[in-house]
Amino acid sequence: MNGGGGGRRREAVEGELERLRAEREELDGRIRLLESQLEADSAGEDGTGAGPEAGDGACGGGGACQRRGGNGFAQEGGLPADMIYRYSRHLLLPDFGVEGQRKLSQSSILVVGAGGLGSPVALYLAACGVGCLGIVDGDDVELNNLHRQIIHKEAYVGQPKVKSAADSCREINSSINVVEHHHTLKPCNALEIVRKYDIVVDATDNLPTRYMISDCCVLLNKYVKCNNHLPDFIHIVLSKEFYLFVQPLVSGAALGLEGQLTVYHHNGSPCYRCLFPSPPPVAACQRCSDSGVLGVVPGVIGCLQALEAIKVAAAVGEPLCGRMLLFDALSSRIKIVKIRGSSPLCSVCGENSVFTQEDFKKFDYENFTQSPMSDKAAPGVNLLPESARITCRDYKKVIDSGEPHLLLDVRPTHHFRITSISQSLNIPLSVLEEKLPILETSLKETTEASGLGKQASLYVVCRRGNDSQIAVQLLREKGFISAKDIIGGLQSWALDVDPDFPAY
Ligand SMILES: [Zn+2]
Repeated sequence: MNGGGGGRRREAVEGELERLRAEREELDGRIRLLESQLEADSAGEDGTGAGPEAGDGACGGGGACQRRGGNGFAQEGGLPADMIYRYSRHLLLPDFGVEGQRKLSQSSILVVGAGGLGSPVALYLAACGVGCLGIVDGDDVELNNLHRQIIHKEAYVGQPKVKSAADSCREINSSINVVEHHHTLKPCNALEIVRKYDIVVDATDNLPTRYMISDCCVLLNKYVKCNNHLPDFIHIVLSKEFYLFVQPLVSGAALGLEGQLTVYHHNGSPCYRCLFPSPPPVAACQRCSDSGVLGVVPGVIGCLQALEAIKVAAAVGEPLCGRMLLFDALSSRIKIVKIRGSSPLCSVCGENSVFTQEDFKKFDYENFTQSPMSDKAAPGVNLLPESARITCRDYKKVIDSGEPHLLLDVRPTHHFRITSISQSLNIPLSVLEEKLPILETSLKETTEASGLGKQASLYVVCRRGNDSQIAVQLLREKGFISAKDIIGGLQSWALDVDPDFPAY
């Protein structure tokens, strides 16, 4: 412990420090005043105000497009008046401030997918003032998208999602540059589109696209001379002369009542292939269109993706690198787990990788993952001979002719409750084998009720015509030799026979 003399000395030093800080603050205030006077004078001389640059042209490449020019800034490192007012709540944050907003306004971010995840991502990035926002999506808006894809409105049903999303973003913030890429991202176009942006947000919902985007970001690593201007977040200093430019990837997923997100390929975090060198089995890959999703779940994950993208762009906080956030909507639990770092053995980002951009363009991601990039192209199974199948139109003729028959619907019970063809019997495929006695009894009753003495025939239907084939295969093995599959399931029934049958 110091004696009384030491205590007095400390008090004196603290007093002096306080006086000097006050003096510095006063000087800073005078400097700011003089700078703003100077700025006002020069704006008057050259006739330029602080108006924002905006446009809808494509990005020029190599970083943010349409960066604000020298005249746009009040001073070196400062912001023009319109930005100060619009983003004042950001500027008030000591950890974000002018510097964070400036970096954000100079960054370019690509959102892949304008669906459930992409909606909040694009809306927040637009509102927050990212310099250039690219949106890529090849689909059109459908009515059954609107419960979760909140960027789209009813008036846009049938129109391209990119147009709908871009219009919404421009309505929120006309001062940023929004670029529409009306394509499905594929190996043949991904490098060209992705290379124009600093950061990529994967807001898609399928496995092949997830691998493709990650590979694409890795392959776009480039060595850049350090005298070029680069935002702080995308380079690793290699020497006094070179930076390595890497493309961070903010990846999210939402299905059912769960979601997850992480940041790949940034600050030493792995790429997707480092974590998953081989794709999981097809059965493990579900989609919203098959398994359902509660609308707000992708909303939560999408908001978190926007947050991570902003943190990376503004170089603030600790992005989710090397960690994965897991969200469980039912229990309201959020868990963050550590994931392994980048693997030196990774076939794409590893030290000895021989995977080139040319290899990438030719790589068949659908074959690699055994899963389609679009649910519209979902391949149907083909398990049965033609004699064991019937078209929906021909099945309609069976009904109209009064032929005694039983219609077995093998969808899960909660699907059957949504809608069904009248007088069908629901036994889900998962329990069909154990419930064969019920089927047998029902068939017998149908035969007896017809009074024709002829065995009633058996038709099997499901949602899309895949499970019904598996069911018919099983039924024929078990002796129900008349069982026939209704080709294309209820989806074809709605298309070809009954336009009023509710599609889902
Ligand atoms: Zn890797």
